[in-house]
Amino acid sequence: VDMESQEVKKNIELKTPLVKGPSQLPLSRSRLKRGPNQMEDALEPAKKRTRGVGAATKINTSRSRVPPLTTVPQTQGHTAVQKVPKKTAPRCSTAITAVLKNQKPVPAVPAQKPGPTAVPPIAGVKKPSKRPAWDLKGQLCDLNAELKRCREKSQTLDQENQQLREQLKEAQQQAKDLGTERSTLEGELARVRTQAEQGQQQLGNLSAHVLELEERLGTQEGLVQVLQKEQLELQEERRGLTTRLEEQERRLQASEAALSSSQAKVASLQQEATTQAALLAERGDRLHGLEMERRRLHNQLQELKGNIRVFCRVRPVLEGESTPSPGFLLFPPGPGGPTDPPTRLSLARSDDRRATLSGAPAPTTRHDFSFDRVFPPGSRQDEVFEEISMLVQSALDGYPVCIFAYGQTGSGKTFTMEGGPGGDPQLEGLIPRALRHLFSVAQELNGQGWTYSFVASYVEIYNETVRDLLATGTRKGPGGECEIRRAGPGSEELTITNARYVPVSCEKEVETLLHLARQNRAVARTAQNERSSRSHSVFQLQISGEHAARGLQCIAPLNLVDLAGSERLDPGLALGPGERDRLRETQAINSSLSTLGLVIMALSNKESYVPYRNSKLTYLLQNSLGGSAKMLMFVNISPLEENVSESLNSLRFASKVNQCVIGTAQANKK
Ligand code: ADP
Ligand code: MG
Repeated sequence: VDMESQEVKKNIELKTPLVKGPSQLPLSRSRLKRGPNQMEDALEPAKKRTRGVGAATKINTSRSRVPPLTTVPQTQGHTAVQKVPKKTAPRCSTAITAVLKNQKPVPAVPAQKPGPTAVPPIAGVKKPSKRPAWDLKGQLCDLNAELKRCREKSQTLDQENQQLREQLKEAQQQAKDLGTERSTLEGELARVRTQAEQGQQQLGNLSAHVLELEERLGTQEGLVQVLQKEQLELQEERRGLTTRLEEQERRLQASEAALSSSQAKVASLQQEATTQAALLAERGDRLHGLEMERRRLHNQLQELKGNIRVFCRVRPVLEGESTPSPGFLLFPPGPGGPTDPPTRLSLARSDDRRATLSGAPAPTTRHDFSFDRVFPPGSRQDEVFEEISMLVQSALDGYPVCIFAYGQTGSGKTFTMEGGPGGDPQLEGLIPRALRHLFSVAQELNGQGWTYSFVASYVEIYNETVRDLLATGTRKGPGGECEIRRAGPGSEELTITNARYVPVSCEKEVETLLHLARQNRAVARTAQNERSSRSHSVFQLQISGEHAARGLQCIAPLNLVDLAGSERLDPGLALGPGERDRLRETQAINSSLSTLGLVIMALSNKESYVPYRNSKLTYLLQNSLGGSAKMLMFVNISPLEENVSESLNSLRFASKVNQCVIGTAQANKK
C-alpha cells in the first residue's frame, strides 16, 4: 500500500501541472487553434479523472468506517500491527484524497470515532474482553471470530486494491495522454512564440515604416500646401496676364488700324514728296539766283557807302579821369535830324598862344568833322558791330575786307577790336563778334550748298619786325622771327613764314587763340615797356567758300588791325641818349602809319605806283587794300581835354582817308 501510495503521489506530482496546464495557457489561443470541441476533448480527461476519483472516494467513504490501520497488520504481519504508528493511517487516506484534489478530503477523525455500530479497534477488543487465562475455549472462539473478520476485511481490501490498481492504470493512461498533449502544446507554444516574436519584429518594422510614412506624408502635405498656394498665385497671375493680353490685343488692333491709315498717308505723302522735290530743285535754282543777286546788290550797296569808310568812336571818360568842360565834344545831329545815327563830331579847342599874347580869355576854335558814322561815348559794342556786320558779310561773298583801329594810345582801339577786360560777353570786341557772325552765316549758306572753311593767323608788327602772336613753345623765342613772303613764284598770295595758321570753326577756338595772343603780348610787355601800344596787331582770317554742285569758289581775307598808337613824340623832349631808340621807334610807327595813309591816297588817286613796300604793314595788307577790297577805319578818340591835340591829329588823318574813294570793287571770284 505504501509503495502504491508513493507511486500515486509521484503521478499526482506529475499530473498537477498538467491539470493546471490548460488554465495557464491562454485559453483564447488554444481555442483559436483547436476550436471549442477540441477544447472539450482536452478537458475531458480531467473530468474523467474527477469522476474516477469521485468513484474512488465513494469507495473510500463507504469504507471509511473501517479503520485503515486494521488492514496494515494483515499485510505486514501481526507483530507489525502494534508497531505501526497511528499516524500512518490518516496519512494514507489524505494521500488518496489529495488525488481527488478538489474533492473534500475524507475526515480521518470521524472514521476513528467509535460509533455504536462500529467495530471496536483491536486493542480495544483485546482490553475489555480479556478472558481469563483459563478460558481457552472462549479465547479460541474470540480468535476465530477475529480471523473471520480479518478474512472478510482482507477480501474487501483486495477488492479495493484491485479497484485502486485500475484507477492507477487509468490515471497513468491519462498522465501519458496529458504528457503527449503537453509536448504537442509546448511545440505549439514554441511555434506561437516564434510567430509572436516574428510578429513583434514585423510590428516593429511596420511601426517604423508607418512612422517614416507619416513623416513623408507630413512633408508631402506641406508640399501640397505650398503647391496649392503657388497654384493660386499662378492663377491670379494668369488672370492678370490674360487681362493684359486682351488689352495689348486691343491696342494692337488699334495700332494696325492706325498703321494702315498711316501707310495710306505715307503713299500720298511720298507722291507729294516727289512733287515737292521737283519744286524744291526749281526753288533751289531760284534761290541760288537770288543769292547771287543778293551778293551783287550787297556789294553795290557797300560801294555806294564807299569802299573806304571811316567810323569815329569816342571812348567814355574813365574812373579817375577829369571830366572835360561841357561843349568840348559835341555830336550834332545829321542831315536827317536827331533820329538819324550821328555822323558828325565837333571839338572845341582854346588857342593858348593867342591868350598869352593878349591877356584876354583864350578864344576857342571849333573843329567840325563828318564821318560815315560817329559813336559817342555811350555806344555799346553790339551797336558798333551791327554797323560793320554787312562789311564782314562781304568777306563771305568773296571781297577782301580790312578793318583798322586808329588812334592814340589809350583811346580804345584794343577795346574796340578785342573787347573789354574780364571776358564780359557784353564787352566782346569786333574780332570775336565778327567770327561768330561769319560762322553762323556760313552755316546758313551751307543749306544752299556752300561749304566754308576758316584759317586764322595773328601777328604783331613792331619796329618793322613781324612776330607771331599765336606762337607756342620754342617758336616764342628770339629765333621765332617771321618774314612776309609770296606763297609761290608768280603768286599774288602772301604768307608769313614761321607763323601759325590755325583752322577755326567755332567761337571757342577763336577765344583760345585770342587768349594765347594776349598771353604772348603780356610776356613781350615785360621785356619792353608798353610794346603793345607801339606795335600793330594784325588778325587775319582766310575765308574759303565752295559750291561744289555749281563749281563755284570764293576766297577772301578778313583783316582786323589794331594799329600802334598814333601819338607823336615831342622832338624837344627826346634829347636824352636813352630816348634815341624811342625816337627811332616812334618814327617807325609814324612812318608806317603815314605809309598807310599814302597807300590809301595813291589807291584813291589811282596812281600807277602804290608804295606798299614802304612798310611791313602795307606790304602784308596789299591784297586787302584797293581793287575789290573794302576798308573800314575806326578812328578812336579820347574824350579828355588834355588829349585834344592828338585827337585833332587823328581826326584830321581820318578825314583825309574818308575823302578817298577807291574804284569799283570786283568780287574775288574764280
Ligand atoms: P588802346 O588800345 O587804344 O591803347 P584801350 O583799348 O586799351 O586803348 O583802352 C584804354 C582804356 O579805356 C582801357 O582801360 C579800356 O578798357 C577803356 N575803354 C576804351 N574804350 C572804352 C569804351 N568804349 N567803353 C569803356 N571803356 C573803354
Ligand atoms: Mg591797344
